[in-house]
Amino acid sequence: MAFDISADEQDLVDAVTRISTEVLAPQAAAADESERVSDATLKTLAEVGVLGLNLPEEFGGPGVGSVAMSRMVAAVTEACASTASIITAQFLATDSILLAGTDAQRAEWLPKAAAGEIIGSFGLTEPGAGSNPAEMSTKATRVEGGWHLKGTKCFITNAGFADFIVVYAKTDSEAGRKGISAFIVDTAAAEGLNFNPPERTMGLRGSPVYEFTIDTVVPADALLGVEGEGFTTAMRVLDRGRIEVAAMSLGISKAALDAAVAWAGERRINGKPLNRLQGIAFKLADMYTRYRSAWLLTMDAAEQRDAEVDFTRSSATAKLAASEAAAFIADEALQIHGGYGFTRDFPLERYVRDARIYRIYEGSSEIQRTIIARSLAH
Ligand SMILES: Cc1cc2nc3c(=O)[nH]c(=O)nc-3n(C[C@H](O)[C@H](O)[C@H](O)COP(=O)(O)OP(=O)(O)OC[C@H]3O[C@@H](n4cnc5c(N)ncnc54)[C@H](O)[C@@H]3O)c2cc1C
Repeated sequence: MAFDISADEQDLVDAVTRISTEVLAPQAAAADESERVSDATLKTLAEVGVLGLNLPEEFGGPGVGSVAMSRMVAAVTEACASTASIITAQFLATDSILLAGTDAQRAEWLPKAAAGEIIGSFGLTEPGAGSNPAEMSTKATRVEGGWHLKGTKCFITNAGFADFIVVYAKTDSEAGRKGISAFIVDTAAAEGLNFNPPERTMGLRGSPVYEFTIDTVVPADALLGVEGEGFTTAMRVLDRGRIEVAAMSLGISKAALDAAVAWAGERRINGKPLNRLQGIAFKLADMYTRYRSAWLLTMDAAEQRDAEVDFTRSSATAKLAASEAAAFIADEALQIHGGYGFTRDFPLERYVRDARIYRIYEGSSEIQRTIIARSLAH
């Protein structure tokens, strides 16, 4: 249980950590206020390959393992959670193509995504189908020259500015999960894509999420891989994505814990630093314990993924523990800052708002418990 990474991976982790500290952290508050991580910031990340960190070398990525990836995702999030959400949505889109695409689809889309020349989006959720995507109503019907896609997707990260969206749709309404397929929708070529303005979200405000309707014909080769495999692909992608959500949770937890430790050492009450009060010291100890437990579970899931064993339960466990820990740690860190923590002059209120989503997206905490419990029953 060493969670070792190679020297090359360590160099990349160091480089991503450096760019996160130097470029992402200084713009995090502004991205939150303006409700958009700037194109200039994304361009800088693209230039150093951060938008393709999940991809193997043959498609232009660095080919790193999941343990190293988790460390990098945590470092990005520690600096700016909105940026991390944009990047990990890109990973969901490109992982879909990597796992299920044909050779031609991988060759067409992945190198450009790895270079950050194009941004992707993962379109699974619908107004009537979130926790249970098998209830989706978006349909794909075979027509002359391709497929007619028709339906509505909601809460889709990156969608409004994405170059391609992996849209999941029913190709056979009678076949349940086996009737779901995925399509690569080229947003520049597709007519009949209509985006609502971004949702007014509580946190991750720099990472816009969109509802959109789709009513368009896509070419036959837009079908991602094999017809009827879409649900399986989405679940495999989310198994990976949940380790990334756990890593994002670690990033906010670390930022909040470090801020709380520093503040508790500096702020004085009755002539003594706050951390000399047992009530505050115990909070810090509990926060550290939750952080460290979440870190170990996340790296354990990543290591299982790298070992190519079944990691569905461990990724669900890591996501559940780490997302709940992040919410707890961010809230306690704000509490330790007192009234200052409630102001926007400090990042604590942003950490609390941003961390809240990790218990909801890519399967809520309730869904993670369902996955874990089901796996125990077998
Ligand atoms: C900021 C943000 C970004 C997102 N990005 C994306 C994206 O890029 N792509 C995408 O496809 N989706 C995305 N989503 C959607 C997200 O994954 C869903 O919101 C999430 O899966 C929950 O679905 P829902 O909102 O429909 O809630 P519901 O499914 O309606 O759930 C409501 C409540 O019921 C609980 N519940 C549901 N089923 C069960 C059960 N079986 N047992 C116990 N409790 C249950 C849930 O835990 C929740 O508390 C995003 C959402 C947000 C807010």
